Amino acid sequence: MDKRERLVVEHVPKGLLIGGRWQPAASAAEFEVEDPSLATPLCAVPDAGAEDGLAALAAAGEAQPGWAAVPPRERGDILRRAYEELIRRQDELALLMTLEMGKPVAESRGEVGYAAEFFRWFSEEAVRIDGGWQTAPDGGGRIWTMREPVGPALLITPWNFPMAMGTRKIGPAVAAGCTMVVKPAHQTPLSMLALAGILQEAGLPDGVLNVVTTTRPAEVCEPLLRDGRIRKLSFTGSTAVGRRLLARSADQVLRTSMELGGNAPFIVCADADLDKAVSGAVTAKMRNIGEACTAANRLYVHASLAEEFTGRLAERLAALPVGRGTEPGIQVGPLIDAAARRKVADLVDDARRGGARAVLGGEPVDDLPGYFYPPTVLADVPPDGRLLREEIFGPVAPVVTFESDDEAIALANNTVHGLVSYVFTESLRGALRYAESLEAGMIGLNKGLVSTPAAPFGGIKHSGLGREGGRLGIEEFLETKYVALDA
Ligand code: NAD
Repeated sequence: MDKRERLVVEHVPKGLLIGGRWQPAASAAEFEVEDPSLATPLCAVPDAGAEDGLAALAAAGEAQPGWAAVPPRERGDILRRAYEELIRRQDELALLMTLEMGKPVAESRGEVGYAAEFFRWFSEEAVRIDGGWQTAPDGGGRIWTMREPVGPALLITPWNFPMAMGTRKIGPAVAAGCTMVVKPAHQTPLSMLALAGILQEAGLPDGVLNVVTTTRPAEVCEPLLRDGRIRKLSFTGSTAVGRRLLARSADQVLRTSMELGGNAPFIVCADADLDKAVSGAVTAKMRNIGEACTAANRLYVHASLAEEFTGRLAERLAALPVGRGTEPGIQVGPLIDAAARRKVADLVDDARRGGARAVLGGEPVDDLPGYFYPPTVLADVPPDGRLLREEIFGPVAPVVTFESDDEAIALANNTVHGLVSYVFTESLRGALRYAESLEAGMIGLNKGLVSTPAAPFGGIKHSGLGREGGRLGIEEFLETKYVALDA
């Protein structure tokens, strides 16, 4: 670490945030946060246990009534001040994120901006929570509806977008008047701790936001799900963990929002604009080093374009410099850890055993100290292999050809996931047909990036429940109460 990197890490409050106080774990245990580009430790943070999780929930429970009574404008103003501070400190926070997560610093900068935008969006939504008033159809009464915060929420976030996946939940929770316990991924706790410090400075009252860092997520979170004080679970992560948490949420009949895994098809039709399609594929595949739930996982290309598309994509990916994300010009950082790299390598090896051909890459980088895997393009990928069924979460682009739109739609929908699908076509008729036929919560039409705070982000099938962002995002944290009036 150089001096600036050390300063940025030192600046982060390293404690559990419970009831407005930064504190060590009750057991005093700590764990090390690692720099995945060097495979060396950055610093240590508290390793919470069940007792700490319950203390955080107690703080959230106590703060709930007072927080729900704070005027919406004041809640929005806190988010607005935090938004401004995130933008003011964008460079420093980007460096911090790159150090713990690995993505190139320009991408981290982008994520800090994206994360901040959720606070700006929800600062504006806080004052638009409204109710309803209706005359009963028979004229015999009035129907009055009002909105209330759901109550204390448990927010669990993944490592791949360590700040934006937090603000996408914290923003609407604050705006709606919910208190919360946040549990970030153990690989990337620092961005969340820095964010919590910023919210505290922005005036968020003690106990509204509590943060517990831990390497034992089940031990800390599952007692909370059994506790009557919790009313809401919002989770972003893998489908396997999401399914388990949904089952645990049945005990207290919790409101749940689930942003789970994806297996996005990326379809290039016979009439696609090839320049747009290649650029879209670079974005959809390489954003976040391929470690995104929205990453293009299966590239279906019309047979007439496949050779040219594959060649051009390989050329573009070959030109992306691989290395430590803090270095100038680097566009491909390391994967998050050794297990992630092993999984990507296994999937590629499995596909090659089934007959796939590496047009680019295909072997882990072994002359760098971190967990690097190079951009890889595979052709002749076996249709039933693991590579097309599982989330790759790495910079590997498998290309499969198709002959007709019917075939492309059937291939694209042949998955339990349904987060996002990308389609490239210049035909309006084709675009409509794909948009209506693809089983996904989101469609990228001639566009390799769908994420924006103003749109409802979320999936169907095993990709989840509920929507984050847009007008719907705050709904996940609001209850509706109806009053029947005699008139
Ligand atoms: P993960 O499911 O392993 O972990 C996600 C979070 O859940 C982490 O904070 C982890 O500590 C916690 N967790 C794990 N087991 C738990 C348990 N038993 N109880 C409570 N918490 C538990 O996923 P990951 O590897 O961190 O993230 C990658 C996954 O997230 C991918 O599948 C990706 O598609 C998905 N993801 C989805 C979205 C979306 O919006 N749909 C966005 C980003 C990532």
